[in-house]
Amino acid sequence: MNAEWTELSTAIRGCTACSELVASRSIVVVGEVPLGARLALVGEAPGAQEDAAGRPFVGRAGQLLDELLTGAGLRREEVAVLNVLKCRPPANRPPKPTEAANCRPWLERQLHLVAPAITVALGLSATRWFLGRTPTLSAVRGRAHSVLGRAVIPTYHPSAALRFGPNGAPLAALRTDLALAAELVQTG
Ligand code: URA
Repeated sequence: MNAEWTELSTAIRGCTACSELVASRSIVVVGEVPLGARLALVGEAPGAQEDAAGRPFVGRAGQLLDELLTGAGLRREEVAVLNVLKCRPPANRPPKPTEAANCRPWLERQLHLVAPAITVALGLSATRWFLGRTPTLSAVRGRAHSVLGRAVIPTYHPSAALRFGPNGAPLAALRTDLALAAELVQTG
């Protein structure tokens, strides 16, 4: 997969489909895929720190994610980390539907190459990318959905867990759902 991944990443870095994002981005954040990753995490879009570093989930949400992965017995180094959008939206606004649609083939091709046993969708944007119209996360989170033959577990975004604090429902749900993903990755 290495040569194909490199070729795909080069194509993604050259993407100019969304003029507003091309104007505001510093770096295209392609994502990170360790060889043989069996678990993929899909977030929404790079934030300020990711846009500066060129790596996904390196800000506060990423630090929390790393802690939760460790708690679930997983190591970040063995997990693929991807996003619905590869470019940071201005002021971290949510992706526009046209942007998500423009970027869709990139994530599709990435997931095809990685072929993870389990995919975790972090937050509503990623969940909608897989499941389509989804009014709330609480109705779908916490279990694996079969999406075109792929097992997808929707859960809260780590930034929601940060927003609601250590005693909030999103953090507890995220912890539970990552533990489920870890279990399914081991048994699946
Ligand atoms: N939030 C996301 O959804 N993705 C990142 O890479 C960083 C923050």
